[in-house]
Amino acid sequence: MAAALPQSDALVLIDGYSPTAPAASRSHNPLFGLTREALIAAMAEMGEKPYRGRQLADALYRQRVSHLDEITTLPKALRDRIAEAGWEVGRPSIAETFRSIDGTERYLIQTGFQTVETVWMPEGDDSAEESAEADEGNAEGKLPPTASGWKRATICVSSQIGCAVNCQFCLTAKLGLQRNLTPGEIAGQVVAVLERHKVELNKNRVNLVFMGMGEPFLNYDAFMAAVRLLIDEVGIAAPRMTVSTSGIVPGILRFAQEPVRPKLAISLNAPNDQVRESIMPVNRKWNIAAVLDSVRTIPFRPREKVTFEYVMLSGVTDQPEHAAEVVRLIRRANLPAMVNLIAWNPGPGIAFSSPAQGAVLSFQQTLLAAGIQAYIRRPRGRDIYAACGQLKRTTAS
Ligand code: SF4
Repeated sequence: MAAALPQSDALVLIDGYSPTAPAASRSHNPLFGLTREALIAAMAEMGEKPYRGRQLADALYRQRVSHLDEITTLPKALRDRIAEAGWEVGRPSIAETFRSIDGTERYLIQTGFQTVETVWMPEGDDSAEESAEADEGNAEGKLPPTASGWKRATICVSSQIGCAVNCQFCLTAKLGLQRNLTPGEIAGQVVAVLERHKVELNKNRVNLVFMGMGEPFLNYDAFMAAVRLLIDEVGIAAPRMTVSTSGIVPGILRFAQEPVRPKLAISLNAPNDQVRESIMPVNRKWNIAAVLDSVRTIPFRPREKVTFEYVMLSGVTDQPEHAAEVVRLIRRANLPAMVNLIAWNPGPGIAFSSPAQGAVLSFQQTLLAAGIQAYIRRPRGRDIYAACGQLKRTTAS
């Protein structure tokens, strides 16, 4: 699921932009993105002991350095040798920041010669929070606010530049697929945003949703490598992460085999195959039944649920009969499930309309009355095109 800039960008751009600044050059040998073992191996090649690799890992992922010179645990002579060997930190950096009136921030993050979009939502994305709280039995009220006033936050992360899935309601789809992101470029978005907000992971509650640009399961290996880095090195627990897929069945089947994995969300968006095919061409390859069959292979953790994301398009997916069909579909699915209702966010060049508030509420009521956990996702950052389905602008042109 994914985010484009309105014509009035200059009004919301708050920092980082210089029309004359050259794009950051692509690092040829980025250390960021390498596992601890790979860093140890790189140090061994330079004749250094394993602890130097561990120091590098700590500097990259815990201290969040962005330049070799900041790694003060290494002697200067070694830092110089690392640079001479062609290495650099190479972590993606925030090139531009757009801030919404609701506190949401959308970033263009430099990855090589292109930028990718990442979103910071203080106070979180309601849906992800709900399940995370439930998983861990925590009461949000017990959390002290941070110095900047937020108690918890969600970072929405991209896995590709553009997307090939071509959901008809999504702005990202207009870009087509430009390229897959590397593990370092995926994990780097998170670390760059954590550093911007000086997040202390042992004190602050941060959730990740892989729902930015792209289809994570069409970049599966890099996505999962990034997840492992984020868990093992950055220190974010797997239950605090949710990945959303449009229903790439081979990816879901692989995901089910992962010993450690995020929670899963399925971008359902329609009550039946006919409607789904009309708005999500991927449904012709893997229909709803095939997707549900694959989800049933996942060994769910205690209290874990699969989330069905449901984008509401006026007259297309928001009618009372659609709600009744969704109830039947979820009952038949026989899965631990919850539903997130997302009122479609408008985007230029897309001929759908947002549903009336009453339609969203009555849809939710139908699900709740049937005993199905259903949440209405609060739109975040619509004014800066950071809301679901609005991520598009990737080049700093
Ligand atoms: S086209 Fe579909 S799968 Fe791709 S980013 Fe948009 S909503 Fe997600």
